[in-house]
Amino acid sequence: MIIQSRGRNAPTRRSFLAGAGAAGLAAAIPASLRAQVAPTPVLIRGAAIFDGRAPGLIAGSDVLIENGMISAVGPNLSAPEAKAIDASGLTLTPGLTDAHTHIMWQDEIEELIYGSPHEYTGAMAAEGARRMLLRGFTTVRDAGGPAFGLKRAIDSGVLAGPRILPSGFFISQTSGHGDFEPRLNYLSPHFTGQLDPAYLRGWTITADGKAEAIKAAREALRYGASQLKIMGSGSITGAHDPLDVTEFTLEELQAIVAEAQKWGTYAQIHAYSDAAVQNALIAGVRSVEHGLFASEASMQMMKDKDVFFSTQYLTYAASPEEAGLTGEAVPKFLQAKAGATAGYERAKAFGLKVAWGTDILGTIDKGPFQSLEFVARTAYYTPAEILMQATSGNAELFARSGPRHPYRAGPLGVIAPGAYGDLLLVDGNPLDDIAILTTPETSLALIMKGGVVHKSLL
Ligand SMILES: [Zn+2]
Repeated sequence: MIIQSRGRNAPTRRSFLAGAGAAGLAAAIPASLRAQVAPTPVLIRGAAIFDGRAPGLIAGSDVLIENGMISAVGPNLSAPEAKAIDASGLTLTPGLTDAHTHIMWQDEIEELIYGSPHEYTGAMAAEGARRMLLRGFTTVRDAGGPAFGLKRAIDSGVLAGPRILPSGFFISQTSGHGDFEPRLNYLSPHFTGQLDPAYLRGWTITADGKAEAIKAAREALRYGASQLKIMGSGSITGAHDPLDVTEFTLEELQAIVAEAQKWGTYAQIHAYSDAAVQNALIAGVRSVEHGLFASEASMQMMKDKDVFFSTQYLTYAASPEEAGLTGEAVPKFLQAKAGATAGYERAKAFGLKVAWGTDILGTIDKGPFQSLEFVARTAYYTPAEILMQATSGNAELFARSGPRHPYRAGPLGVIAPGAYGDLLLVDGNPLDDIAILTTPETSLALIMKGGVVHKSLL
């Protein structure tokens, strides 16, 4: 949500061409394309292992990856058919995850919805996803946007990118955070019959009243949403909804949550005001996004109901200038920033489950900010706690999608037999210095997703 300026100085990288060179045609095929055939078994020897759950490193174990999954972890493994990698001196971690991305949002939203051909959105998102994987992110929960096609192309192995748990449409009330219309002087569809491109392009459904809320929820589920995304309050960057505004009635929220539950999944909600958080918790929402103005009573409810607090730390560490904000967004941002510190301290004091998410969106050059979130959290959490949030913690949140979770063959976010073969080899120890994750170009020696090596410096 930081992310408004329009710089175009994105770095280009070619390291996804793992194995390219003089070794013949097969080696020149990008790893992303080779993913369509079963990857070669890989045996990683000698790394110190952060398994996603324990706060320290495990020495003396090897990791065997077969058919895209981790098949064994233990000392002195033998697998003659596997490609062996000597990882001595490196740290092996699960692939990173981000619980709040907008992976389709790789330019200004007005540009994506109203200003460009729709295929521009997909083309930019394909590149954004590739860069995200090269930052070490192997799974993301997408908190809104038309990501179903990108997910399909990535899952098929044609494009390189993280696994995606899509939410699809934002479900927003008229005048809510997902109601983009007035920015382009679109008239309300309720009175003019005019269809907003924000709906036609899969970004947002405006719904008012219980019946429309139910219909909106069902439509997002019909498209394949892993979980629903509700816009429950005003925002910093909203077109016309001040930060203090509470959106949707309790009855509307309950209707949306009930639809999610019927599909075995849950709803997450964008909510700043305490009233919005309260309504959401009463309605049964299981993940509160942002939530920084939640009162102590709301925090206690979150704890009692085992709701994830899915906030961002980098966003409010910046100044408005650093965040690229101008005009009326500046005072709203400062208001949120002032509340943020109290929110972080309360969440920690109540021992809430804190998701690791970034909400980085806007022009594609903002992508590298995603990795800075690791450092922004060090004011509140140890490196081990932060890495657990970004691996097994988020995976626990993702599991709340139940049968709508697209990746159910094994656990995500851990290094254990039966888990997905999503892992990193880090040059250095992120438990000593988590800032090394902010320079993935040099610090990530190997990136594997589903047993496929997408980058290797080894
Ligand atoms: Zn968001």
